[in-house]
Amino acid sequence: METSSSNAVAIHRYPRTLGRYEGQEAGPLLICLGGIHGNEPAGILALQKVLSRLQAQQLPMRGTLVGLAGNLRALEAQTRFLDRDLNRLWLAERISQLDQLEDGCAETLEQRELLETLRQLIRGHRGEVFFLDLHTSSAEGQPFACIGDTIRNRRFARRFPVPVILGLEEQLEGALLEFLNNLGVITMGFEGGEHHAQDSVRYHQAAIWRALVGAGCLPNSIPEAQQAAEDLRISRGSMPRWLGVRYRHAITPQDGFRMRPGYRNFRPVEKGEVVAEDRKQGEIATFYRARILLPLYQGMGDDGFFLALDIHPFWLRISRWMRYLHLDRIVHWLPGVQRIPGESGAIRVNRKVARWETVEIFHLLGFRKRRIEGDTFLVRRRQFDLKGPGQISI
Ligand SMILES: [Zn+2]
Repeated sequence: METSSSNAVAIHRYPRTLGRYEGQEAGPLLICLGGIHGNEPAGILALQKVLSRLQAQQLPMRGTLVGLAGNLRALEAQTRFLDRDLNRLWLAERISQLDQLEDGCAETLEQRELLETLRQLIRGHRGEVFFLDLHTSSAEGQPFACIGDTIRNRRFARRFPVPVILGLEEQLEGALLEFLNNLGVITMGFEGGEHHAQDSVRYHQAAIWRALVGAGCLPNSIPEAQQAAEDLRISRGSMPRWLGVRYRHAITPQDGFRMRPGYRNFRPVEKGEVVAEDRKQGEIATFYRARILLPLYQGMGDDGFFLALDIHPFWLRISRWMRYLHLDRIVHWLPGVQRIPGESGAIRVNRKVARWETVEIFHLLGFRKRRIEGDTFLVRRRQFDLKGPGQISI
């Protein structure tokens, strides 16, 4: 039995803080997290390797790198989670009551400990805070990154020559990245490959080196960072650089969801192609030409698969200019679009009146889709899109 969180940590396979490397000069804080899913230890192994390399060579650095382990209890049991997915619990309302919560759930204890660790690191830090969340998946595939679509996140992501996916967080409620992103942290999720592949550890190491460059801790010229960029560039092959998630196929254990064989990450699918089956619908076909993302072949989870579309860099440039010009402030002039009184940056869109193009304009302008209510949907302008908060309050 676990009696107190500090005792509980001691019995686990990994400590919460895997290591810390302090640069000689003050600067950004880069926090890297491995194993928020307990069956994904590759990120932790990679962090241990990079931290010991930095220590051994005493590389001159600006700022601080901290490596953290995520779901310690699930890592011990080598399972994705014990009671609830730790990466779906970061909702503002839950966090405000977290100290009083007594639901007997292992992940509530994990969340409390992890949040406390993050608070100790971030509170009082002067300068930018970066957060890299390292994952692996049940299917084979090459590495890729996902970001919430802010200009600051995009700038960071450009340092990682892998496919970068925008909008995954809109499909998932309560992800840690989104919670931190909304506080003004620059965030990125990185998928290294299959859970047990050796390459996944290697790609995670590459991601950590590139994150150190992206955060401004290390110069791009050091050999480790150059090699990392080269490894990631080769892994990308002919994949597109930027993609947008358009659909999530949500599942429950009762569905008996089964993916058809042979769907690697990023594999193109045609409109109407049967990619999976379940007890509810029988055959599950795709709605449009797209690429399949994160197909679920084994284990737990409530995402069957995602569909993503390639984004031409032209649209990224256009949307950057639209945001610098603050066109979001006049978006309510469009037909079917209304501001929500009393909620800053929140917009209600009537789907019957607004055309499809209008819907896409919100992504370009830096809005995040919140929820659908009948014929309307709600979007909210992302905070800290162009500029950070100065000091983060967590
Ligand atoms: Zn994961």
